[in-house]
Amino acid sequence: MNTELQNIIAASDNIVFFGGAGVSTESGIPDFRSADGLYSKKYKYPPEIMLSHSFFKRNTEEFYNFYRNKMLFLDALPNMAHKKLAELERIGKLKAIITQNIDGLHQQAGSKNILELHGSVHRNYCMRCGKLYNVDAIVNCKGVPKCDCGGTIKPDVVLYEEGLNSKILDKSANYIENADVLIIGGTSLIVYPAAGLINYYKGNKLVLINKATTSMDRRANFVINDNIGKVFGELLI
Ligand code: ZN
Repeated sequence: MNTELQNIIAASDNIVFFGGAGVSTESGIPDFRSADGLYSKKYKYPPEIMLSHSFFKRNTEEFYNFYRNKMLFLDALPNMAHKKLAELERIGKLKAIITQNIDGLHQQAGSKNILELHGSVHRNYCMRCGKLYNVDAIVNCKGVPKCDCGGTIKPDVVLYEEGLNSKILDKSANYIENADVLIIGGTSLIVYPAAGLINYYKGNKLVLINKATTSMDRRANFVINDNIGKVFGELLI
């Protein structure tokens, strides 16, 4: 067990968590950024192209073939990181979760205040009339999912070339700015906007939990190089 992390958490009721793909890899959801080579064998384009706004517009059916196969992991279950974070919120210690993940596992674990920087596969909407659909509308059809009105349904997921929701970004910055403890987990922090958001933190309890070392390690007050599910699993909450 990490005693330092245990003590930091015990002493605070104003913790904010910022997480990336590494939080969900222990639930069996691969980080597609680190698996580029894997996909290039089966698909004509790298994921950065297939998950771009222009590709969605021009090759909607091909987008959905890739999306259904490689972006939806609907059988995945929350791991100990998701569960302990939900528990920390329930007992009033954790104020918000800011996540780059789109899998909805924090909600599934019971967390309430979740800021999804990149959206969620569980929300989908008609591009013509705005009608909302859950993920079943994407899964239970072939080809391009269509609304009752005939419009194309699009996942509420931020694609490459698309901007982030500014309200969610502002809220995230605000939580980080006012946080006593900021725990960052499972992200390399290279990808925008992670690096920028962290600059809002003013405190001296920045905890970094990541399997590999990152460029932010020197900036952190505490660095734990381990699996995030394991680290949270060992916490006594
Ligand atoms: Zn519609």
